[in-house]
Amino acid sequence: MEEDGEEYLFKVVIIGDSAVGKSNLLTRYARNEFNANSKATIGVEFQTHSLEIDGKEIKTQIWDTAGQERFRAVTSAYYRGAVGALVVYDISRSTTFESVHRWLHELNTHSDTTVAKMLVGNKCDLENIRAVSIDEGKSLAEAEGLFFIETSALSSTNVKTAFEIVIKEIYSNIS
Ligand code: GDP
Ligand code: MG
Repeated sequence: MEEDGEEYLFKVVIIGDSAVGKSNLLTRYARNEFNANSKATIGVEFQTHSLEIDGKEIKTQIWDTAGQERFRAVTSAYYRGAVGALVVYDISRSTTFESVHRWLHELNTHSDTTVAKMLVGNKCDLENIRAVSIDEGKSLAEAEGLFFIETSALSSTNVKTAFEIVIKEIYSNIS
């Protein structure tokens, strides 16, 4: 994070099991695009997005694991300097919800500062095959001190809100 007069640059990371929709949440937010068959490339990628808060331009670098998580080895460089995180699971797959604790632990291990965290239950369009209830999501978020939201990168539901709540929280943490 850099703060130079009226300029802000925040780093936000997206974590969670493979195929929960991390890359699509990012492309939906940053470019309003969705890919039904997104192929994960190896390496680290980020997109920069701007938002105005209190008349100030807030730039956010949003990092996507780009497939590293399949090898259970997201590097410490990925987490370095992050002040915000979206911890994502897929509401239609319980195993991805059970992994949330492990992702939070990894995040906490790598961060040396206050991190604004949002628990994100993605694919809420798949109501007919829901495997994790809203209450389960809420309870976990409350117990761990995270914000909570359900999203759909497919239908765009709550995607913008999820990122903006995190960015506004980061901003309020430093101002
Ligand atoms: P990542 O591995 O976490 O980056 O997940 P991806 O963004 O690559 O998405 C994995 C698969 O889930 C892809 O086939 C996406 O099209 C699909 N997907 C992602 N988000 C949603 C969503 O909100 N709803 C539905 N139904 N499918 C989604
Ligand atoms: Mg991905």
